[in-house]
Amino acid sequence: MERNVSSLAIVLHSIRYGQMNRRLKLLTLDFGLIDVVSYGARKSVKAVKGDVFSDGQFFLYYNPVKRDYTLKDVQLIATHDEIRTDLGTNYAALFFCELVINTNGGDSTSQYGLLSKALDMLCSHQDLVARILIQFVLHLLDICGLQADFTRCPICERPYAAEEIIRFNSQMGSPCCESCATLDTAMILGPGARRYLTLTKGMDFPSAVAVELSDRAALRIKAYMLRYATFISGRELKTLAGGMLQTLF
Ligand SMILES: [Zn+2]
Repeated sequence: MERNVSSLAIVLHSIRYGQMNRRLKLLTLDFGLIDVVSYGARKSVKAVKGDVFSDGQFFLYYNPVKRDYTLKDVQLIATHDEIRTDLGTNYAALFFCELVINTNGGDSTSQYGLLSKALDMLCSHQDLVARILIQFVLHLLDICGLQADFTRCPICERPYAAEEIIRFNSQMGSPCCESCATLDTAMILGPGARRYLTLTKGMDFPSAVAVELSDRAALRIKAYMLRYATFISGRELKTLAGGMLQTLF
């Protein structure tokens, strides 16, 4: 009854499974998020490579009765090994993977495209990690159908004034005007940051990352987007717990 299927996919997570095997969580283009068992992945030199951050065409067996997938082969497009050479970059990539797992709601084609580009850019632009982080969260909001409006308050529908500082409503999980804000969060966004986010949110990912941002502004907007990520996640993110991404870039 087993069927051969294949899809472009990225390995988000990998844990030991039994003595010799690993259980992988894949973000696939065609089947969304799936768990896949890679048999003999731990010791055999012949075992199929499926390290975290690997991007490629994955060939699987699907058992429709048990509803499980087994990894058969993979044609790698990118291993993204460069990410592992830097602790901070590695954390950023793990944060992306965790956020994709937690927000498993948007369409998988767009999520795969975004994560694939973001991991590529973490390899090629290790000096731009803050901007890559900001743009990853901003673009993921859009994909999940939670696109933030930085031009008007989504609750009272009042357009923001040019120099207005906007706040946040934690029940809605959305930026809003001062009157509509909840008091349990200090998330605020100044007019400069708002202009940057409005300008870049419609751009494709690499063009958005290329937009210049001062170090100070990048630090502030990054802190904001990391907290935003916690809201859309619905729970604390393990990759933010140590505070490394908040302080390192
Ligand atoms: Zn309002």
